[in-house]
Amino acid sequence: MLYDVIIIGAGPAGLTAGIYAKRACLNVLLLQDKYSIGSQICNTYEVCNYPGFNNVSGQELYDSMRRHAMEIGVTIVSEKAEDIIDYNLPIKKVKTKDNIYETRSIVYAAGASPKKYGFEGEDHYVGNGVSYCATCDGSFYKDKVVGVIGGGDVAVEDAIFMSRIAKHVYLIMRRNEMRATKILQEEVKKLTNVEILYEVQVESIIGDLKVEGALIRRKGDVIPSELTLDGIFVGIGIAPDTALLKGKVEMDNDYIVASENCITSTPGIFVAGDARRKALRQVITACADGANAITSVQRYLTSGTGT
Ligand SMILES: Cc1cc2nc3c(=O)[nH]c(=O)nc-3n(C[C@H](O)[C@H](O)[C@H](O)COP(=O)(O)OP(=O)(O)OC[C@H]3O[C@@H](n4cnc5c(N)ncnc54)[C@H](O)[C@@H]3O)c2cc1C
Repeated sequence: MLYDVIIIGAGPAGLTAGIYAKRACLNVLLLQDKYSIGSQICNTYEVCNYPGFNNVSGQELYDSMRRHAMEIGVTIVSEKAEDIIDYNLPIKKVKTKDNIYETRSIVYAAGASPKKYGFEGEDHYVGNGVSYCATCDGSFYKDKVVGVIGGGDVAVEDAIFMSRIAKHVYLIMRRNEMRATKILQEEVKKLTNVEILYEVQVESIIGDLKVEGALIRRKGDVIPSELTLDGIFVGIGIAPDTALLKGKVEMDNDYIVASENCITSTPGIFVAGDARRKALRQVITACADGANAITSVQRYLTSGTGT
């Protein structure tokens, strides 16, 4: 079968693109990595800035978007796109582990993933005390001691979330100040079981089978010191998942270059959501991209340009 459009990624951008494509009567297929939790937004326990959904969990918001797409008949296949073949030809091919799908256009909506910090043992202890998602894994640390690394919104939100579960939370950051929004800074500073460690680097994990602590180095320390911990959450930001399009479309700092019309440098390939170079990466801008991308796809399919 030849699809009009294949959407890669079923986060808010991809699901919105799916809904718009279906409503435009396009023959659409949506691919989603089957090992994914669905979207970055599922990592947060509280979304307060998406209109119509005051104070909803990220998972609930995501589930309602996915339900909407499925209710109107968007086909979502749990397969990860592994390669894009013939990307610069009119008929492109998207390769997954088991299939090759043919399509006239692609909307790339693969979003972003948490950045790694780079301390020794980070990969080795993932799932055994190192986590990138407090909302997903926080409940394992009831009455325990945890560290949260970072000073931005994600880390501070995670520290606040963990303060309700853990006995003690260390909020550990390299800088001498937080970058999080003022309202979050004020909230975390009020919490009696959150200890903020400024100008501290995490060097390595201590532990046998699971995390038992970390070696940390305060600014100016010659030798590192030990911090006893049951778990450590890394919340230092995100990196776009754009490796699949490297060398195939123009990128800037790993983000795909496209304006609001979501048209990339390669005809027939469009980008939506956090993978696009833009100023604000949020659910609302991801959804807007999904809608704009399909508008451009429709123009491309009829006129060949998208503009
Ligand atoms: C902790 C946290 C809290 C946040 N809080 C808020 C908030 O309160 N309000 C707000 O508006 N925004 C918030 N955001 C930002 C918001 O989550 C993102 O801007 C939004 O999810 C981006 O949507 P997206 O569809 O571009 O990408 P994503 O949500 O990242 O979804 C991408 C999808 O693509 C899939 N995928 C990736 N590669 C492939 C592949 N090769 N093949 C198939 N599928 C693939 C992924 O598995 C995923 O399902 C938060 C983010 C984080 C991390």
